[in-house]
Amino acid sequence: MAFVVTDSCRDCMFTDCVPVCPVECFWADDRMIYIDPTVCIDCSACLPVCPVQAIYVEANLPDEKKHFTELNREKCASGTLVNLTEKRDPLPGAAAKRASLGL
Ligand code: SF4
Repeated sequence: MAFVVTDSCRDCMFTDCVPVCPVECFWADDRMIYIDPTVCIDCSACLPVCPVQAIYVEANLPDEKKHFTELNREKCASGTLVNLTEKRDPLPGAAAKRASLGL
């Protein structure tokens, strides 16, 4: 099992999750962040700090978000992502995305 980033992160990327991760398993493309399931140690440190509640324990994913498990795995194995090791500025639409989620 691993933790999974879902669509609430898309066009958002607050990256509060990055500095709390002890194993640097967050990777990003230009729209969202993904967790490498081969590196995640299931510590749960990232889950409460995400401002848009985008991170789930795999076992708790709602049905409509279950496909994000495979997407996180595929993306992290693709060799196309950037490893995040520090918090960075959110994307320009992040505040609007957060508001659209009612958070
Ligand atoms: Fe990193 Fe822990 Fe979150 Fe896994 S559960 S991504 S190890 S902070």
